[in-house]
Amino acid sequence: MNKAQLVSSDRKHIWHPFTQMRDWQEEEFPVIEKGAGCYLIDVDGRRYLDGVSSLWCNVFGHRVPAIDKAVKRQLGKIAHTTFLGLSHPAAIELSEKLIAIAPKPSPGSGDRPLTRVFYSDSGSESVEIALKMAYQYWQQRGQPKKKKFVKLTNAYHGDTIGSVSVGGIDLFHQIYRPLLFETLEVPSPYRYRWPASDDAEQVKQESLEMMEKVLRENAEEVAALVMEPLMQGAAGMIDQPAGYISRARELTRKYNTLLIFDEVATGFGRTGKLFAAEHEGVIPDIMTVAKGLTGGYLPLAATLTTERVYEAFLGQYEDFKTFFHGHTYTANPLACAAALATLELFKKDRTIEKLQPKIALLRKRLQDFYKLDAVGDIRQAGTMIGIELVRDKRTRAEFAPKEKIGVRVIELARKKGAILRPLGPVIVLMPPLAMTEKELNRLLDIAYESIKEGTE
Ligand SMILES: *Cc1c(COP(=O)(O)O)cnc(C)c1O
Repeated sequence: MNKAQLVSSDRKHIWHPFTQMRDWQEEEFPVIEKGAGCYLIDVDGRRYLDGVSSLWCNVFGHRVPAIDKAVKRQLGKIAHTTFLGLSHPAAIELSEKLIAIAPKPSPGSGDRPLTRVFYSDSGSESVEIALKMAYQYWQQRGQPKKKKFVKLTNAYHGDTIGSVSVGGIDLFHQIYRPLLFETLEVPSPYRYRWPASDDAEQVKQESLEMMEKVLRENAEEVAALVMEPLMQGAAGMIDQPAGYISRARELTRKYNTLLIFDEVATGFGRTGKLFAAEHEGVIPDIMTVAKGLTGGYLPLAATLTTERVYEAFLGQYEDFKTFFHGHTYTANPLACAAALATLELFKKDRTIEKLQPKIALLRKRLQDFYKLDAVGDIRQAGTMIGIELVRDKRTRAEFAPKEKIGVRVIELARKKGAILRPLGPVIVLMPPLAMTEKELNRLLDIAYESIKEGTE
């Protein structure tokens, strides 16, 4: 098929995710055929910088020789075998490596190490698993009243019904409310739009006081607090002040509830450390990972937990304490092979170490963006960046939805040679960790010019 045939066939048969399909019928869209390093190449041969890591998952760029080779090697053995009642070497080796690199408790902290890996296929599913695990844990530990989950406003944990229940983005979640289980909500520390003040320390204190109040008043009934540590991604990159996640750990311990960290977006180096939890030496009871796990190659996710949680599921066969969860493609061997190669590359290439000057470069250059009238706030954790656009900088008034300000900006960026994807009025930059400084500079130039032209 040529380009025109591909486009018309797509418009006729496909329903795209998170997409208003009426607009899709008129809008131009690239048809990506190939990748090379941090570039995506469409069927016309046009090259675009992959400015959001193919939706936050790509780590080392595309066509990475070591990962290509690992997948091919596994393909020469077997593409898939079930993980129900059978095992396979790639998944076994990967579990050992994941446990080895998982955040470690600091001595005397009282935190327990993460020692068990439960595989799944997507970030959403890894969260479903975390929720079911936490719930069943208390049921089987003789505290059946502990059934509720505490979540943060603006949270995003995936789009299946369970993960939406602990989500807090009304735009995506409101319509499904009647289908969801009830949760308790605490405000996320969104400094830029905090009602009383935008002083980081005050926002932190007030939001943590509210968290404590909810945990204290519902201690008997709360199974777990679930949160994205350090940075709420899909919310529009809402960063948490230093000390926030350690306090969340203290509070969950004090009120005897589990802490679930959703590291689906923040994991694998995105925040400048391998896991966001490491920034404050905090170990959750359950941690979910996905996106970057396979370097952005194949769908694979994992839910890590402690021996204590795991042991609550042990019993006689006929006690039925089993964790009844597992999908057809759980722990797919090709995906596990890609993940093994990814972890190997992190070590061999000293990825985290080499990332630090790039994070500094981004931080420095992003300051310039405040010169633009429409740039209200810039939030960054490592290579996760959100640039919030406002109609009026002084009042922080927002653009009207129908102005489609984010979409306007990313369409300009595409013409200039970079693929971006906005979150409402927030322009997201999330380059692959391997993007070179030269490419980062180009990405920043394109983003700057596109925001300038798009908001003039
Ligand atoms: C993307 C994301 C998910 C969902 O992952 P999928 O693989 O898209 O299902 C869950 N949690 C967070 C924090 C995410 O960013």
